[in-house]
Amino acid sequence: MQDDAANSWEARADASAFYGFTDLPSVHQRGAVVLSHGDGPYVVDVHGRRFLDANSGLWNMVAGFSHAGLAEAARVQYNRLPGYHAFFGRLSDQTVLLNEKLIEVSPFDRGRVFYTNSGSEANDTMVKMLWFLSGAEGQPQRRKFISRNNAYHGVTAVSASLTGKPYNSVFGLPLPGFLHLTCPHYWREGRPGETEEQFTARMATELEDMIEREGADTIAAFFAEPVMGAGGAIPPSKGYFQAITPILRKYGIPLIADEVICGFGRTGGVWGCETYDFMPDAIISSKNLTAGYFPMGAIILGPDLSDRLQDAAEAIEEFPHGFTASGHPVGSAIALKAIEVILEGESGNAPLIDNVRAMTPKFEAGMARLAEHPNIGEWRGKGLMGALEAVKDKATKTPFDGALSVSERIANTCTDHGLICRPLGQSVVLCPPFIITDAQMDEMFEKLEAALKQVFAEVA
Ligand code: PLP
Repeated sequence: MQDDAANSWEARADASAFYGFTDLPSVHQRGAVVLSHGDGPYVVDVHGRRFLDANSGLWNMVAGFSHAGLAEAARVQYNRLPGYHAFFGRLSDQTVLLNEKLIEVSPFDRGRVFYTNSGSEANDTMVKMLWFLSGAEGQPQRRKFISRNNAYHGVTAVSASLTGKPYNSVFGLPLPGFLHLTCPHYWREGRPGETEEQFTARMATELEDMIEREGADTIAAFFAEPVMGAGGAIPPSKGYFQAITPILRKYGIPLIADEVICGFGRTGGVWGCETYDFMPDAIISSKNLTAGYFPMGAIILGPDLSDRLQDAAEAIEEFPHGFTASGHPVGSAIALKAIEVILEGESGNAPLIDNVRAMTPKFEAGMARLAEHPNIGEWRGKGLMGALEAVKDKATKTPFDGALSVSERIANTCTDHGLICRPLGQSVVLCPPFIITDAQMDEMFEKLEAALKQVFAEVA
């Protein structure tokens, strides 16, 4: 019996994995969930337990875990050209097709595309592009970046510096010159008596003050997720992008939309910038780009940055940057198929973005109903992404004692009942796959409600 336990998948995982972003006491006590396969929006573990994954993996498995068309696109391309780079003027036909498709579906009428293996690398690359541009355009002092507290832009040293999370202090980050503004979360950051409009105006003033204080000619760009994902599914306050965009334009500071989560339909529009009606200078994409079937990131440069970067690179003959697997042919083929599946519809099926739009009212109604609980302070979200924020006291918005690990307990209880959702701070985040059906959404809310009741009864 003991030998069996020592040889279990859970024990082997615990002995061999150096976990990242994992609550270690919880995983030591409960054991890891070791998965063997997927089935639509469900994942199945090595013991045959099925979990409805209300987080789409990490926001990305929007077509579910068993999409035949995506797997077939990979198989076909592995047999044609299984790998290549995009250096020295050599690149796969699939990558050229993907460039064209990404520009076509972007808000830009023209532009250029650069590929990475992840969202972090895409943000990192964007920073290097802008540093490169500053030097090439005779403004070597233009090296600072502005983002927001609670933003998540990745984990490389530079993208973690853009990220506005306190945990990065364990690495001695952010690097110098990475500046953070207040998170535009009205419910949490609004002052007593302040309207949402006044709050937004304050956020815009704070941005302008920072630009003036630092010197506009030292700021290389402003990075923002349209809806903050790993910050806890936080939509911008009302009119936020309309308030900040003119300020950035006035000072000649590019606006980089980190659409790693929002891009390709999550918020109901193709892009978050479409949903919130603003025009960025470049788009950072990953995750849904391949529906999670291949690690890939992309920087889609709008016309102005594209032209300026191209000129800067021509002047010294090359842009000295790239990854071995930038523009991987299989990744490109899968991305082309994912875009077809999500935005156009394939094999006679409706585009998945239609289902996002169709299911959003039910999602919002379910969240609003759960938010009636006295220990839910707020529900927030957009499209098929949302969060429920747990509070000890709804009126004062007082959080639970952190030692109670309330959101972790809720998520663990959900897992026990066959539902995967994600604890983030004191909130629980949901972002179901775009293929979710009516019945599966009922299942998601029933299981979550049972878990909330159980945990709040234990801690309240
Ligand atoms: N940007 C955003 C908005 C993200 O949510 C993430 C990951 O969750 C990243 C960047 C980093 O992407 P990756 O984990 O692929 O490096």
